[in-house]
Amino acid sequence: IQSKLPGVGTTIFSVMSKLANEYNAINLSQGFPDYACDPKLIDLVTKAMKDGFNQYAPMPGNTALKENIAEKVEHLYQVKYNPETEITVTAGGTQAIFTALATIINPGDEVIIFEPAYDSYAPTIKLLGGIVKTYELTPPNYGIDWDMVKKLFTANTRMIILNSPQNPTGSILSNQDMQALVKLINGTDILILSDEVYEHLIYDGKKHESVMLYPELRERSFIIASFGKLLHATGWKLGYCLAPEKLTAEFRKVHQFNVFSVNSAMQQAIATYIKAPENYTGIANFFQQKRDYFRNLLAESRFKLLPCSGSYFQCASYSDISDESDKDFSVRLLKEFGVAAIPVSAFYQKGTDYKIIRFCFAKENSTLSSAAEKLRHV
Ligand code: PMP
Ligand code: GLN
Repeated sequence: IQSKLPGVGTTIFSVMSKLANEYNAINLSQGFPDYACDPKLIDLVTKAMKDGFNQYAPMPGNTALKENIAEKVEHLYQVKYNPETEITVTAGGTQAIFTALATIINPGDEVIIFEPAYDSYAPTIKLLGGIVKTYELTPPNYGIDWDMVKKLFTANTRMIILNSPQNPTGSILSNQDMQALVKLINGTDILILSDEVYEHLIYDGKKHESVMLYPELRERSFIIASFGKLLHATGWKLGYCLAPEKLTAEFRKVHQFNVFSVNSAMQQAIATYIKAPENYTGIANFFQQKRDYFRNLLAESRFKLLPCSGSYFQCASYSDISDESDKDFSVRLLKEFGVAAIPVSAFYQKGTDYKIIRFCFAKENSTLSSAAEKLRHV
């Protein structure tokens, strides 16, 4: 058969995790915690199953969960989303991204993305016949010159994908970025897909600049969230999409034939769990400690650490160690030193290689210290 995604192989996350298992390396590559999620959550899922939440959930999501998401969003951002018409529960962030793009993108439509970027955006756009317009960010700060973004606009520009805090760089968008974006899209009908799955993972007292805080952006945005990050349970594959009523109505038309509805018992459990803000308000502090712990351990290594303001990823340059490509270096690091990381070139479609690799620090401190001990010998 003719491939719909020529040139696309297996995602780097699967590749590196598989290699890490084969070589028994410490896996700081794929982003997931190596510690247990809150046992209270597991009790709540068991309870939901015993209470009979074992058949299809309502198509747009469990009613209590949507209501509690609305409450949580209002508590955090003082913005109201209507649970009936503006919130849809999805099978993780990835499905929400796929569905939002499928809802909007027609063949020939252009979508602007900022690379290095989470690896699902570009293939999804292409699968839908869309055209990816890339703005390449550069280390160490990965900042955006919005005048240059404007140069990418054409009559076919349909959407911009934002991701703050960003995977893989850990950079975040500032209030100035958001103001510049507001100006830029004024007078256009460009929509926004704002991937905010790391909304809670933001450090040093900085504030997450959600697009919902800017009315001119909110009215044209799909906002993507993931319970995998919030609950330290990436395998649950649950998340949601916030969007104004008109966009949500179209989103749900696609969602109902994409998955119809998602895991019923877990939705019920999460509904109860997120009702208590103390179940999620400490998460930034929790991860900031891990970031600082890991960074301090690596301070005496030959890796040069890049800034990390958010997400659970720490990027590091190995240019003082080797001039190998980042892919070769990552494989050698894994096989010879026993630590798996992600080569950041995998997040650029052109494979741009700045000799930087990404470590995930959502790990037990003992895992981080064992990894750092090995990395200090590189
Ligand atoms: N967006 C970004 C930026 C991510 O890093 C991830 C992966 N964790 C996702 C979306 C997908 O989230 P989920 O695992 O909930 O599908
Ligand atoms: N988001 C995670 C990461 O960046 C993994 C996602 C995945 O495995 N598909 O590592």
